[in-house]
Amino acid sequence: MSLSHSPVIVIGSGSAGLTAALYTARANLSPKVFEGREPGGQLTWTTTVENFPGFPEGIMGPDLMDAMRAQAQKFGADTRFESVTNVDFSTRPFKVKTSTDPSDPEAETFEYTADALIIATGASARTLGIDKEMHWMGYGLGTCATCDGALYRGKKVGVVGGGDTAVEEATFLTRFASQVTLIHRRDALRASKVMQDRIFANKKVDYIWDAEVDGYLGVDEPDRALKGVRLLSTKDGSKRDVTFDGVFLAIGHSPNTKVFEGKLATTPEGYLLTRTALAWKGVVAPAGLLDSMPNYGSSTSIEGVFAAGDVVDTHYRQAITAAGSGCAAAIDCEKWLEAGGASAH
Ligand code: NAP
Repeated sequence: MSLSHSPVIVIGSGSAGLTAALYTARANLSPKVFEGREPGGQLTWTTTVENFPGFPEGIMGPDLMDAMRAQAQKFGADTRFESVTNVDFSTRPFKVKTSTDPSDPEAETFEYTADALIIATGASARTLGIDKEMHWMGYGLGTCATCDGALYRGKKVGVVGGGDTAVEEATFLTRFASQVTLIHRRDALRASKVMQDRIFANKKVDYIWDAEVDGYLGVDEPDRALKGVRLLSTKDGSKRDVTFDGVFLAIGHSPNTKVFEGKLATTPEGYLLTRTALAWKGVVAPAGLLDSMPNYGSSTSIEGVFAAGDVVDTHYRQAITAAGSGCAAAIDCEKWLEAGGASAH
């Protein structure tokens, strides 16, 4: 096991993490970046990204992330294909343990220390966990209508889920698609009343109630493309195939915060609480937390630990907002270090 120190460690390599890495590298803070289980983050699961400013023709998600990584590396960010397995915020400098493969007990492990940390571990869209799901992801199957919706102009799409996200995604998709079918496992939506009223008034949306996706139907030649789903009735167990040009899973997101459990303040769902997050309507936080946090928007409940991107964000969840918040966290971190934050402990 080796041990090394750096002023800043960035955990996560999506657009928040790599932007934080770029800014801290340019501030001469020699960040180490642990890329985690999904190097490049959620954008590596999408095809063309059309809403990231600066790319009028769009850019492939993986290409955008490769460019962000290269830009951070150019200024000295040390990016590593390691996942964080444990953190210790109880002593200074902070301690971080990593593994090259947390699922393999034989994998190489490392231990690092840092004066400050930026957490940008993101959130993963929940998937159904059924056969060949990752095979179709990005080839007709998606988890972000805002990212991919415009690819389905004039097409027929399905949206799986019955919560606010599903209703919001389905409503958004009606701007492009000719027909949107909401597929829900029960016969009543979980979404808020106002969102339900809006979608029920939308003539482009129809519904398949009491149904779960049991399998994906698609072709590999001449191009890999999802063609529909096999549905299982939750009422009588019968199966039927339904054709779609695209299917979106909208069954919720889970923040990637397991390793921080009990160490940082979170929402009941596990999103990290920062000063910025506490300003959002509806965010539930322990009493007195805001008063105890240092005065930086991206501060978490532990001084010197900052957070950015979807691991915090229950509201916007866009690549560009994540990148912006990664920049903010890097500037907060730099200012905190400059003000002697690390040596005050
Ligand atoms: P959610 O409220 O947890 O809803 C998830 C939906 O997916 C539920 O309808 C659930 O079905 C369904 N589901 C879960 N697992 C499934 C599975 N394995 N197979 C089939 N269906 C499955 O998640 P969300 O919609 O992402 O919302 C999360 C939070 O963000 C909520 O508090 C929501 O209000 C908020 N949000 C707000 C807005 C807004 O206000 N504009 C927009 C988006 C999200 P059941 O209903 O049967 O459990």
